[in-house]
Amino acid sequence: MSEQIPLKNETPDVVEFDLYQKRKKIYTRSIKGTFNSLRTYTLWVLMLGYFLTPWVNFGERQGVLFDLPARQFHIFGLTFFPQDFFLLAWILIIAAFGLFFVTTLFGRVWCGYTCPQTVWTMIFMWIEEKTEGGRNQRMKLDKEPMSASKFRKKFAKHGLWVLFAWLTGITFVGYFAPIRELLIDFFTFNAHPWAYFWVGVFTVATYLFAGWMREQVCTYMCPYARFQSVMFDTNTLVISYDAKRGESRGARKRNADPKELGLGDCIDCNMCVHVCPAGIDIRDGLQYQCIGCALCVDACDSVMDKMGYEKGLVSYTTENRLEGQKSSILRPKVIGYGIAMILVMIGFTTVMGGREPLGLDVLRDRNRLYNETPSGMIENIYTIKVINMDQSAHDFEINVEGLEPMTLIGRTQVNVAAGEVRSVPFSVQVPPTALSEQKNKIFFSVKSTDPDYEASKVTESRFIGPVGN
Ligand code: SF4
Ligand code: SF4
Repeated sequence: MSEQIPLKNETPDVVEFDLYQKRKKIYTRSIKGTFNSLRTYTLWVLMLGYFLTPWVNFGERQGVLFDLPARQFHIFGLTFFPQDFFLLAWILIIAAFGLFFVTTLFGRVWCGYTCPQTVWTMIFMWIEEKTEGGRNQRMKLDKEPMSASKFRKKFAKHGLWVLFAWLTGITFVGYFAPIRELLIDFFTFNAHPWAYFWVGVFTVATYLFAGWMREQVCTYMCPYARFQSVMFDTNTLVISYDAKRGESRGARKRNADPKELGLGDCIDCNMCVHVCPAGIDIRDGLQYQCIGCALCVDACDSVMDKMGYEKGLVSYTTENRLEGQKSSILRPKVIGYGIAMILVMIGFTTVMGGREPLGLDVLRDRNRLYNETPSGMIENIYTIKVINMDQSAHDFEINVEGLEPMTLIGRTQVNVAAGEVRSVPFSVQVPPTALSEQKNKIFFSVKSTDPDYEASKVTESRFIGPVGN
């Protein structure tokens, strides 16, 4: 007789939870301290850099100008063209290795001190505090029904937020269109519709990201926050709470001896939580929401000071140090990222050093394979683009060879202004007897004729003739 397994009609406990949690507004308390001062200095440097750079001229033009219609990118005397775009790949690789290197050593310093989301949020929080008051006043204000005084405060806050967001937007567009003219055209309604569009997009994005979404951007939108843990190891600098020293946490009188009360050094004041822009409790351990701003370190240090305890209950430390082990700076990962970064930087410098300040593009007229002239010559039409990447104007001579005897009809002597591209139409004529194939290689060359400036460039092209020559 076969045994039957008894079936149990038991339903497991079902726990319902919402996948889309409503954002809980974070009311942060401002705090003074070493790391907050460091963040403020960084903020000033970055803000001044961002807002003033478009106003700095270099030579006769804006120092940094990404002129998209002209396909020229001017960066303090250097002009880059679309053909230089491979340099951008070098720069991005250097930046990536730099970020890996810094993150492995110092954790999320980029997020805590220099990320635009952090910096702009700091400014928006500062505006909020100036218009609505400190943490407790803001919490009280939000609970109050609407009144003239509440409306005034909210209006001032949002007005200033929008103004700062607009300044951010117009400055950003000022990197792509000369900012002096842009400002005048913007207010006289003569700016290009795209200028209004992009200023609008950046204004709205700044207002939403720094004013409303804040830590949500770091927690849910930023990919770096998610993958950086891969770069962390037990020697990476992180902000951490020393649970061995802090626990058991609990309130006590200032002069009370914690040992007698069976308490650790944490007085459970929640100051570290109140200052946290991510709204987390560092005492719960390392969390991915932590942006490494170190405000909880400042907060806890100020509490420790008041209590007469040693600072550093919350501090920059490493997992190894917390475990009582030695931390090492030079690890294989750090050395690897460092070497990779240095090698790519050497490569980039070599490429930049060997970059010729002269470019030559040859475009063959594709509408017609060839023409036959009344005098019996075979003719191909070209447009030659001479790109002068130098900082001064120069005279150039254009030539062609490869199918002698050949005639170049067009303007062979041209003057090209600094950082400009000059297009010249040309006709090349060859007697049919000089063509042995249908597709023939020819070489265009451009050479400076200025006595004190040496530059030349050669580009290969095709000359098409009749079949079966
Ligand atoms: S836990 Fe500390 S370091 Fe992390 S985000 Fe909050 S205040 Fe900044
Ligand atoms: S600030 Fe320091 S003492 Fe206060 S709760 Fe946080 S860890 Fe404890």
